Amino acid sequence: MPTHTTRSSPATEPVLGWRLWSLCEDGLESWAVDYRWRPGENVATCLDAGRRRCATAPGPGCLCGFWGLWRPSLCVVRACVAPEPPWHVLGLIAGWGSVALHGREGFRAERAGLRCLFTDRMWAAPALRGRAGAAPVHHVGPALVRLRAAAAQYGVPLLAVRDAARVGLLAELGVPEPQVAEAVELASRWTWPGLDEGRLAPW
Ligand SMILES: [Zn+2]
Repeated sequence: MPTHTTRSSPATEPVLGWRLWSLCEDGLESWAVDYRWRPGENVATCLDAGRRRCATAPGPGCLCGFWGLWRPSLCVVRACVAPEPPWHVLGLIAGWGSVALHGREGFRAERAGLRCLFTDRMWAAPALRGRAGAAPVHHVGPALVRLRAAAAQYGVPLLAVRDAARVGLLAELGVPEPQVAEAVELASRWTWPGLDEGRLAPW
């Protein structure tokens, strides 16, 4: 995340973002840092070991804070190049407090909470390309059991992206229509132009 602008006001409207976690034995962990997410409000601290830590997160010129991305495809393209297990989990968070905005990519927030988790593993679809009659890719078996336990622990709904769109949950959470359409498209496609170059083509 290169340049950013920071807006700082506890009274600001929460921002909604997509993100990925690692599914662990008893909860969800951040990818980049050693942090186990808690139910309810999470408060960020700077965990940067290579420089002087920021007094508050998100610090300017740092990467601390809870990140969220504006588009689900930005999460999926990252998950495509990261091996599993630990299993990746896609979900939505709300971020509030001090928030660093990173242009068209996303944000880093001082405070964050889970809003929804998804069973989809769209990043696994390209590997299954060509399998006739293959069902859309979702967490199954022990991973699904663990994911259900995590959703209960965090007190958030767990469902397939298509179902979340169909019943209006995404709209209710405040996900803009273009993002809903993109998420549904991702959940139903098997190949994505541009994936080999590390990006997803817009549609
Ligand atoms: Zn920092």
